[in-house]
Amino acid sequence: MTQTVDAAIVGTGPNGLAAAVTLARAGLRVELHEAAASIGGGLRGEAYFDSDVRHDVCSAVHPMAAASPFFREFDLTARGVELLGPEIGYAHPLDDGRAGLAYPDLDATCDGLGEDGRRWRQLMEPLVEHSTGLVDFIMSGQRSLPGDPAAVLLLAARLLPRRALSGFRGDVAPALLAGVAAHAVGKLPSLAADAVAMLLGHLAHATGWPLPRGGSERIARVMADDVRAHGGTIHTGSHITSLRQLDHARAVLLDTTPTQLLTLAEGRLPAGYARQLRRFRYGPGATKADFLVSEPVPWTNPDVGRAGTVHLGGSHTAIARRERLAVRGEPTDEPFVLLVEPAATDPGRAHKGKRPVWAYAHVPNGDPRDPVALLRSRIEKYAPGFGDTVLAARGVAARDYESYNPNYVGGDIGAGAMTLYQSLARPVPRLDPWRTPLPGVFLCSASTPPGPGVHGMCGHLAALSALRNRFGVREAPALGPTAPGVRA
Ligand SMILES: Cc1cc2nc3c(=O)[nH]c(=O)nc-3n(C[C@H](O)[C@H](O)[C@H](O)COP(=O)(O)OP(=O)(O)OC[C@H]3O[C@@H](n4cnc5c(N)ncnc54)[C@H](O)[C@@H]3O)c2cc1C
Repeated sequence: MTQTVDAAIVGTGPNGLAAAVTLARAGLRVELHEAAASIGGGLRGEAYFDSDVRHDVCSAVHPMAAASPFFREFDLTARGVELLGPEIGYAHPLDDGRAGLAYPDLDATCDGLGEDGRRWRQLMEPLVEHSTGLVDFIMSGQRSLPGDPAAVLLLAARLLPRRALSGFRGDVAPALLAGVAAHAVGKLPSLAADAVAMLLGHLAHATGWPLPRGGSERIARVMADDVRAHGGTIHTGSHITSLRQLDHARAVLLDTTPTQLLTLAEGRLPAGYARQLRRFRYGPGATKADFLVSEPVPWTNPDVGRAGTVHLGGSHTAIARRERLAVRGEPTDEPFVLLVEPAATDPGRAHKGKRPVWAYAHVPNGDPRDPVALLRSRIEKYAPGFGDTVLAARGVAARDYESYNPNYVGGDIGAGAMTLYQSLARPVPRLDPWRTPLPGVFLCSASTPPGPGVHGMCGHLAALSALRNRFGVREAPALGPTAPGVRA
């Protein structure tokens, strides 16, 4: 007979793990179920081509993990996860060989932007000064009173006049900022994309855009270690297809999309709530390629090779046009691309002259096109000769992402479109969006506030809701490392 547990968590992405950490730290007996053979969801790593070179399957760069309230308290560094700051946070090569470079140092960034340096400073400096307050407000899912009201006013002052991306004279700074706004994977310009640009943009000059030494999987590993150290159990290869499989748990937290909740609940959800879930919309897809290369990427502009993240999309207006096409479901051969060459920041990721390169493009939801040729040609445009360095490559088309991870519907790696409405009301407009009408059932994935990215906050906030509503516990547990010996 299955043993009774306090909480069963379905899915071990960063949010499932954060929920488990929080509940186990509150003294609950937790078990996790992961459909895949290994834990981590968007934090997995694989040795695709060479047993010594590991590739980040999904996330690679962690501005949000470095800043999020959950991870600040959990303290990755104290647990042996070294967050390596690249020399340049992100770079944006233009078609003519010039490039925008966002250094951790705001002064260096502004100097590089010439006449637009002043405007960049005007936008970013006040946010950097109020970074913790701004991050805490955004990452609370905007559901708690801001501890630093000035941070919220500063954000509003940048968003409401709808000028975040304007006010520049040249073309480098707006392209640099548009590359960050495009992380919203949606229409550009838009309030949601501007908010993402302000959040991620200022973080490059605050807590940074770091890469964990050894890859993202290190983050999942220390989170799982903490769950086990507090009595939790993790079952891999355990695909949950019905909530009835979890009747032995007093609470169930789903690191899944609302679409899966509809299936798992088998018609038990109230009709009105189910209708709202069916209205939840997915955004454009990602199509990803992993390359094993023999040399650093031969960028036309060599400064670009010093960056942790590279945005390929050309000018501000070209990016906006490409993102709109992806939203409208129209494929283009020149999509917006994000590229990471981990060994540029973490030399240990290279082995005997072989290096991983991670790249994905924003494409229409469900796009079936082969990513390898598409991404190779986009990279070649800014790094001629790249193709000659490729030793091996593999890709996952947007259409196929869902069979790898059911949360990425049609390749939407945000688990739901980040429109303004859905960034505030995901998956439904409620004060406590993590709680479902089914007693003891909670959603804890990136389909809930504050949305996509590796920050653990969806899981943490869902766990706090479960503690309050199911177990009568109002106090948040401590999350910091309990013993100095806890290591990855
Ligand atoms: C290509 C790519 C690049 C990205 N790059 C970055 C980046 O650089 N930085 C960043 O911050 N974010 C990045 N992201 C986004 C980030 O990975 C996600 O936002 C984050 O992982 C979401 O976490 P989650 O816990 O909500 O869900 P996921 O990480 O998707 O995990 C969900 C888990 O639940 C499991 N699961 C689902 N249904 C079931 C079921 N029925 N039974 C059992 N298990 C189930 C899945 O197998 C999966 O392991 C990227 C994503 C992708 C795909």
